[in-house]
Amino acid sequence: MIEKLMMLKEIKIGPSVYKINYDEKIEIYGCIDYNKLTITISSNTSVEQQKATLLHEVLHAIMDNSGLQTGLTSVDFGIIIVESIVDGIANGLYGMIKENDLNG
Ligand SMILES: [Zn+2]
Repeated sequence: MIEKLMMLKEIKIGPSVYKINYDEKIEIYGCIDYNKLTITISSNTSVEQQKATLLHEVLHAIMDNSGLQTGLTSVDFGIIIVESIVDGIANGLYGMIKENDLNG
């Protein structure tokens, strides 16, 4: 599942089509731009880290579409809450995918 995800140059999430870029110069694991519709993943980390980061950024897009992201970022420290939720779900999903051999 994630292997296939990593081969995509674009990903459709709800009404949006995000371009997926791998960049060795960014100094964070990854980021998403909701206006430019881009997901950027650092290629300067392990492949395992890149997979987990891609899942993390996809979750941000899903949350943004659902309105959850906007609601949470409007309050003080919202960004920390958003990152905790996204990290928790992304890491849980990633673990489940690995433990059940769904990583193909
Ligand atoms: Zn994040």
